[in-house]
Amino acid sequence: MHTRPIVVGCGPAGIFAALVLAQAGLRPILLERGNDVDSRRQRVLDFWKTGVLDTCTNVQFGEGGAGTFSDGKLKIGKRDPYKVKVLTELAAAGAPEEILHIGKPHIGTDRLHDTVKNLRRKIIGLGGEVRFQTTVTDILRSGGRVTGVSCIENGQYTEIPAENVILAIGNSARDTFEQLLQSGVHMEQRPFAVGVRIEHPQELINRIQYGKMNGPPPPTAADYKMVVHLPNGRGIYTFCMCPGGSVVAAASEENAVVTNGMSAYRRDGRNANSALLITVDAKDTGSDHPLAGIAFQRKIEAAAYTAGGGGYKAPVQRLEDFLANNDTTAFGDVVPTYRPGTGFARVESYLPADISDSLRQALVEMGEWMPGYSYPDAVLTGAETRSSSPVRITRGELLEAIGIKGLYPCGEGAGYSGGIVSAAVDGMRCAERIMGRSFDDVKNER
Ligand SMILES: Cc1cc2nc3c(=O)[nH]c(=O)nc-3n(C[C@H](O)[C@H](O)[C@H](O)COP(=O)(O)OP(=O)(O)OC[C@H]3O[C@@H](n4cnc5c(N)ncnc54)[C@H](O)[C@@H]3O)c2cc1C
Repeated sequence: MHTRPIVVGCGPAGIFAALVLAQAGLRPILLERGNDVDSRRQRVLDFWKTGVLDTCTNVQFGEGGAGTFSDGKLKIGKRDPYKVKVLTELAAAGAPEEILHIGKPHIGTDRLHDTVKNLRRKIIGLGGEVRFQTTVTDILRSGGRVTGVSCIENGQYTEIPAENVILAIGNSARDTFEQLLQSGVHMEQRPFAVGVRIEHPQELINRIQYGKMNGPPPPTAADYKMVVHLPNGRGIYTFCMCPGGSVVAAASEENAVVTNGMSAYRRDGRNANSALLITVDAKDTGSDHPLAGIAFQRKIEAAAYTAGGGGYKAPVQRLEDFLANNDTTAFGDVVPTYRPGTGFARVESYLPADISDSLRQALVEMGEWMPGYSYPDAVLTGAETRSSSPVRITRGELLEAIGIKGLYPCGEGAGYSGGIVSAAVDGMRCAERIMGRSFDDVKNER
């Protein structure tokens, strides 16, 4: 190789791609539009306090990527060598050691920040370079081969030569998707999900899940997971449940309200929250255009902003009122954790009517599956729109973008993973492709 490989995006996919390249001695350059994790944390806290959004550094963008303000839940499933490597590197960088052996590990947002910082130090120690406040605007090409990237680095236009680029930009890089589509990168629309966050008292969830508690308090705050298939063909599911956590303002664009959830390692907050999601596709977005899903998300986020009353306040409705089609005028005993504030509004005011009707039907069923779940004072906060990517950057067998040698669309934004662990694994696989031989190749040769 004559040039250093470039990795775009410092989320789990980008960090693990850069780490593997650095460990192979290839001295990657990691480019990230947002700030380093310490100044990012400050900006996010300011946003939650004042409602002043930084569109480059927020809950979606900045060192650590979208999951930095999260529960740090690690979805493992069957452990393979890639996942073991992810867990081992995370633990070595400061994540709780127990993630190596327990069934449902989580890191917690408070411990993720140092973990991310230590991974950066490791990449740099191995000869890599990390540049913050650097937004990639295009992939430079000649004769169907990557020749570098163009970017805006601290306000200045720059070009960086490279034969290999891993594009790990996450699912919220809408401006980059638009620029790349215009410059001929092949993309397609993919199904994604929208919905709301629901908050209950954690104590209620513990009681439902653990039964009547006479003995000592449970060792961990209880979680839950449910899926409901409705006669209308819709599937509704709970997602990213955060025990003892809070609902976070996760917008990355102006005048838009986006929710998500996070917990500290101890999961000791008063409320439990979870996303309640419904899958949508081109039938809902009304178009086959590759970016129609983004337009659909934007419409919901803008409607939620208006419904909440502006200033990034989120629209909220009590569960009992939602089920009975009534307005909410006061909270019961669940006070929403979302900051910078909330405004009462019906779910229908920001989600399409058929989607909110399906949520209503599903909630009734969920209350039967999990008696007590239909808690009248539970609060629905919207809108949850960024749980998955509405776009896929199509790639071929060798993980390169169709028709562009040397470009590796990677992670959640490219539509090839969902969650911290699978994004990190995809990053490692793309890095291996640049190195020419993967762990899978070696296994197959044996
Ligand atoms: C609040 C929240 C909580 C979550 N909780 C969990 C959880 O508990 N467990 C779990 O498994 N998953 C969770 N997720 C999902 C998880 O964070 C994502 O699946 C994962 O981060 C995707 O990784 P990625 O590297 O593909 O993309 P991202 O993490 O989104 O990273 C992409 C990075 O690229 C940067 N970028 C974008 N465009 C450009 C550009 N043009 N130039 C330079 N840089 C660019 C962005 O700033 C960002 O840092 C959560 C997500 C959120 C938002």
